Amino acid sequence: MNVNNAVMNLPDEMLHITLMGGQAKVLLCRTTAMARKAAEIHAPSSTALAAMSRLMTAAAMLGVMMKDDEASVTVTVAGDGPIGKMTAVAHGGKVKVSAAHPEADLPLKKDGHLDVGGLVGRHGRLTVIKDLGLREPYIGQCQLVSGELGEDFAQYFTVSEQQPSLVALGCLVHEGYCLSAGGVLVQAMPGCSEEVLEQLELRSVFFTAISREVADVPLEDLAGAWFDGLDMRILEREPVFCRCDCSREKMEKALIALGRDELRQMIDEDGRAELTCHFCRTSHHFTRQELLDLLERASQ
Ligand SMILES: [Zn+2]
Repeated sequence: MNVNNAVMNLPDEMLHITLMGGQAKVLLCRTTAMARKAAEIHAPSSTALAAMSRLMTAAAMLGVMMKDDEASVTVTVAGDGPIGKMTAVAHGGKVKVSAAHPEADLPLKKDGHLDVGGLVGRHGRLTVIKDLGLREPYIGQCQLVSGELGEDFAQYFTVSEQQPSLVALGCLVHEGYCLSAGGVLVQAMPGCSEEVLEQLELRSVFFTAISREVADVPLEDLAGAWFDGLDMRILEREPVFCRCDCSREKMEKALIALGRDELRQMIDEDGRAELTCHFCRTSHHFTRQELLDLLERASQ
C-alpha cells in the first residue's frame, strides 16, 4: 500500500461487472468504512473485526444480487471457534452484523496473518436465508471449509447455489482499526467457454491480497487491470454501508409478539424492560406504563 495515498479515503462501493459479453460476472467492492462502523459498534478484537468485516462484505454481495428492494438476506456462520455464532443481514448494500463474542481473539498465525479460521472455527455451518418478500424464503446451507470465510462462501455459491465461483474477502487490521477492507466475487455463467474459465483461474492470483489492493486504487482501475483483454464492462456501481434498521417501533412489535402471558410476567416481575439490539447495541427502555400499554395492544 502506498502510504501517501493511504489517506485518500476512497468511498465504499460495489461494482457490478460483466466479462466477455456476460460469460462471467464479477462483484468488486471496497468495504473499509463499513468495517470501521462495525468496529465502533462492537469493539471487536483485531481477529474478530477481520471475521466480521469479511462476513459483512459477503453479505453485501448477496444483498446487491437480490433485485427486489424489499428483499433481504440473512447470513449465519455457526462455527466451533471462540467468536461463536455470527450473523449479517443485508438489504441491498445496507448491512448489519453481530457476533456472539466479538471480544474473543487468537494469536497470529505462523505466517503473521490474523487467525480468522481459528476464531470462526473450521467445523460448522454457513446458512443463507433469502427473504423474497411475499414468496417463501430461500434457504441454502453448506459446511464450513476453513472458517476463513472466502473459501466458505466460494463453497456455498458453488455447492448450494450451483454457481461456480471464486471469492476473496479481506480486511487489513492494525491494532483493532481497519485500514482497508473489500472483496471480489467472480462467477462463471452457464455457457462460459473453457478459455475464459482458464483466464479467470489464472487471474485469481490478483485477489489474494484483496484488502491491500482496494486500499488506494479506484475499483474501476483495479478491474481494468485484472480483467484486461476480457471485455470488462461496469454495469452499475452502488454504495455499500453498515447501518442497522432497528427502531423503537420494531422493539414494541417484538414485545407484543411475546404474547400476553410473557408481557404480564415481565410487568409483574421486573416492572420494566430493556431491549438491546444485537446489531447496533442500541438499548430501548420500556417503563411499566409503556409495557401496560403494549399489553393492551397485545390483547387486541
Ligand atoms: Zn439495531
